Amino acid sequence: MDVAGARAEIARAWNGDVLSSLADLVRIPAVSAAYDPGWESAGHLRAAVDHVRAWIEAQRLPGVQCEILCLPGRSPLLYVDVPATTGATATGSVLLYGHLDKQPAHGDWSAGLGPWLPVVREGRLYGRGAVDDGYAAYAATTALTALRATGGDHARTVLLLETGEETGEESGSPDLAAYLDHLADRLGDITLVLCLDAGGRDHERLWLTSSLRGAIMATLTVRVSGSSLHSGIAGGIVPSSFRVMRQLLDRLEDSATGRIAVPEFHAPIPAERRAEALAARHPGIAAQFPLLPGVRPEAEDDVELILHNTWRPALSVVGAAGLPDAAEAGAVLHASTTLRLCFRIPPAVDARAAYEALVAVLTTDVPHGAHVDVTDPMLINGWSAPAPASWLSDALGEVGDHIFGNPCAGIGIDGGIPFMELLGRRCPDAQFVATGALGPDSNLHVPDEWLDLRFAGQLTAAIALIVNAHATAD
Ligand SMILES: [Zn+2]
Repeated sequence: MDVAGARAEIARAWNGDVLSSLADLVRIPAVSAAYDPGWESAGHLRAAVDHVRAWIEAQRLPGVQCEILCLPGRSPLLYVDVPATTGATATGSVLLYGHLDKQPAHGDWSAGLGPWLPVVREGRLYGRGAVDDGYAAYAATTALTALRATGGDHARTVLLLETGEETGEESGSPDLAAYLDHLADRLGDITLVLCLDAGGRDHERLWLTSSLRGAIMATLTVRVSGSSLHSGIAGGIVPSSFRVMRQLLDRLEDSATGRIAVPEFHAPIPAERRAEALAARHPGIAAQFPLLPGVRPEAEDDVELILHNTWRPALSVVGAAGLPDAAEAGAVLHASTTLRLCFRIPPAVDARAAYEALVAVLTTDVPHGAHVDVTDPMLINGWSAPAPASWLSDALGEVGDHIFGNPCAGIGIDGGIPFMELLGRRCPDAQFVATGALGPDSNLHVPDEWLDLRFAGQLTAAIALIVNAHATAD
């Protein structure tokens, strides 16, 4: 493959046809079904799929088959199947993943910008769904056409463009799971998975998601009496459900340090992930967040902050029930206290086993014999990328040398893409490249979302190079 030639082809496509079609995709308010109960009759998800399908068909990849799948009750999925080039020797297939559903507008956009208004300004395409994740379909298809035009090869390649991704990490991509079941026989032997719905800390290199933390959510209720009581009359006699709750929380985490106290929530941090954190650290990670003056982050050291955020368990209390608003609170000893707990768990921890340990810790030998219920669990396993094969390491080296001028970097992230775990389980022998065009300030899920167009072209070239390397790796 002529890399310089492919880059020229890709630049031409992005400056013309790709950009105009992606801009038209921005105009379609294809908000995820999770935010639009009337999505089916509104038809925007279907319109987005139709739009992208028409564009992919117009690229005339030899033998390409585009099919829109609509399982009952599921949002539609665009399935694109491209036969291998004649020069490809790899027997396995490539799976490219992206999604066409979007987040809602979420607040006020800056002057001249809007969620469904594509605006190109200073090398950026603004609009909802540009970087998350509309560009992915275009990058994947353009990579294939460019490598074909410049003497490259690709194995048989399948694009899965779903519209159920933004239903939220809490649901764990149920639509995709259903489609993967439905397509099991057709997908064949997947040996390379390219997920194009991630990103990194800057737009200067290819960032590879190396791991995801998992999550456990559960609702914890402590009950002490048949009804709420006057805090003066019953106080000191009837135990406080809130205090029992505090004692139970102390069993879960060290309240001074935040360290999770349940052993089943911990897993050793692999040496290569520590090395990755060391390489990815940069001064002032905490400064990306709006800490108030004088507020100190969870650790002084940037490497420790990265490891906290990607490989250590942590607890957030994300909801409460049974407590009145402070302005309306009377002198009442409440019959019960309820909190919604949200744990992040290390990539290598089994969520089910950790949850069972959690329930045992909370329900054994409870202070004052209070009644404890643990309900509504939501469990998501994390994921850790398999070690790259030598062909992939070599290809990533070339991507760093010839496309970005900076070496590729690995990054652990904190969940949000449960389909990685899903695909990891379905394709246990595949190589994984989880990457994308998201930068730290791409305004994901907030107003003024934008795609870096230069980076999108580079990423497209990187996909072409990796897919080409895979085609002859066997
Ligand atoms: Zn996304």
